[in-house]
Amino acid sequence: MPDPFGIPASRASLARLSTRFDQFAGRMENRLIRAVPRATMEVPTQEPIVSFTFDDVPDSALDVGAAVLEANRARGTFYISGGLEGQVEPGRTLIDRAGCRELAARGHEIGCHSFGHHDVRQVDGPTLTDDLARNAAYLDAIDPRPAPRNFAYPYNSGSFGKRALLTRAFRSCRAGGEGINRGPTDPAFLRAVEIRQPQQHVLGLARWIDALVTDPGWLIFFTHDVSPRPTPHGCTAPSFHLLVGYAVARGCRVLTVDAALDHMGLRPTGSGGQRR
Ligand SMILES: [Zn+2]
Repeated sequence: MPDPFGIPASRASLARLSTRFDQFAGRMENRLIRAVPRATMEVPTQEPIVSFTFDDVPDSALDVGAAVLEANRARGTFYISGGLEGQVEPGRTLIDRAGCRELAARGHEIGCHSFGHHDVRQVDGPTLTDDLARNAAYLDAIDPRPAPRNFAYPYNSGSFGKRALLTRAFRSCRAGGEGINRGPTDPAFLRAVEIRQPQQHVLGLARWIDALVTDPGWLIFFTHDVSPRPTPHGCTAPSFHLLVGYAVARGCRVLTVDAALDHMGLRPTGSGGQRR
């Protein structure tokens, strides 16, 4: 197919262009959500609070990640996509219902990561509503919970148009954004820092804890697998142990997302009104 300048473009290059445009649109939408928060709440700045969270969730996050947290007398938040149950992927296998049940029994928080792991930007409202109801039914059968759960966006990709829907459905929604939550914060778009490869990157994440201790707020980490040969979006057990241990040693309070919200007494103060 010729491009506007008459140069033939291959199907592959058009696909690449389309992907790049979509990624750009996603970044712009995330910026818009940050620029125009739907509701804000005040994250206190007197005490450093850290949450360790896992997305998807690979079985090594249960076998190793949860055990590392427990060894440090801490618990984590595990954002589960029911549709990924037992899925075998290169370098990782996702946990099943028994794994989720075990996490809950060991005191970890089970959060929602949608059922189909769709980019919420890419699905229409009714489809997203059905998908979230399906995941709620999946999770409630494992870990009954009368109050709204906490949610993490697949691909950390927000949707300006679906914020109202997500705000009604969840206590909080976690995105990415590589930052610390301090002061006025949008609970529907919490910032988080990724623990990912290369290994040097993971070891450098201690600087986020130093920054948090210097200027307190709420630092949320997220990762995926914890294994000897991690995927690009995971880390090794020793490095995760170092990071959790460092947070504890520096005097941070390590809490699940739900426990952090309880501890901080966070309630929305902006246009979204009270939620719980
Ligand atoms: Zn995910």
